[in-house]
Amino acid sequence: MRAISLFGTVVAFASATAACTPTPVTGDALLLGTVVRIQAYRPATDALIDDALTRVAEIEATMSTSEEDYDTTELLELNRAPAASGYTVSPDTILVIERALYFAELSDGAFDPSIWPLVRLWNIGSEHPVVPTRQAVEAARELVDFRDVHIGPGGSVRFARQGMGIDVGAIAKGYAADEVIAMLRGAGVRSAMLDFGGNIYALGRKPDGSAWRVGVQRPDAARSELLGVLEVADRSVVTSGPYERFFLDGGVRYHHLIDPATGFPAENGIEQVTIVSERSIDADALSTAVYIMGPTRGLALIESLPEVEGIIVNAEREVYTTAGIAPMFELLDTGATLRE
Ligand code: AMP
Ligand code: MG
Repeated sequence: MRAISLFGTVVAFASATAACTPTPVTGDALLLGTVVRIQAYRPATDALIDDALTRVAEIEATMSTSEEDYDTTELLELNRAPAASGYTVSPDTILVIERALYFAELSDGAFDPSIWPLVRLWNIGSEHPVVPTRQAVEAARELVDFRDVHIGPGGSVRFARQGMGIDVGAIAKGYAADEVIAMLRGAGVRSAMLDFGGNIYALGRKPDGSAWRVGVQRPDAARSELLGVLEVADRSVVTSGPYERFFLDGGVRYHHLIDPATGFPAENGIEQVTIVSERSIDADALSTAVYIMGPTRGLALIESLPEVEGIIVNAEREVYTTAGIAPMFELLDTGATLRE
């Protein structure tokens, strides 16, 4: 039994190498459980990229809840603190928790950052995932409810019940990408591409003035086969899918996107959700939320949000999109059917 982690589903295309094309400054590191890549054009410098990667490492060391990787982090301290007294977290962490609670409300609890007891129980993505007993799932599920997370002044967080906890695995990569984009912008960079294991941010346009082309991988095929291509500028593109992290037990696939309503991996026929939005934290939260909500409710949610577009693929290779995606999306997979 082994967790299989593919490496993200959205792929940034390498830039053209014509003689006059400026060369980007690049950097990569193993962070946030994936390969984090930054490619930025003038006036970016190696020092700027190093600072950006250091910032991502800091976010990881603060917000990870991996007890395999860390003895402690701010979130582990919070989750281990006595529920009655609560715990005060840093401005970074409170911002991420508050945004996560906003999306929990918006998705009616399909997305729920208080999912930690269930994530910990299943341990998917670790070296030792297990199929828990129904009794254990029910006990953990009792501890999951975002309405029982109370935010006080100055970054204090309190849980209504002992054993509750926060997991920001569905949103932290997006936050980190937004932070890096803010640093690059602050340094005057107007063209860059971030790839945080499939969490993409396309800053500005390519140096030649054309939009960035971002490939969306087929959920059922090898990494090199594309479902389609998105043309974007100043947008994040984030994908969620069961194939990203799962394990097999007795021939059954157990993946990492857990439905708080059942305590089990969500099974609603969806194979992949891709969200396009201005902020990566929103795209990250929404890709997870829409996956759990299922195609009908999920699509209705993103249609209701201005400046957010999405693509949903189900197991029958039917592709559902928001109305506004057409000008930026080209479907390449000839075996897929587009449904409006
Ligand atoms: P993503 O790859 O962004 O879709 O995030 C998946 C991660 O989010 C999982 O590995 C869990 O850490 C966490 N997660 C799983 N289910 C939920 C849920 N229903 N709400 C919020 N976070 C979740
Ligand atoms: Mg997500």
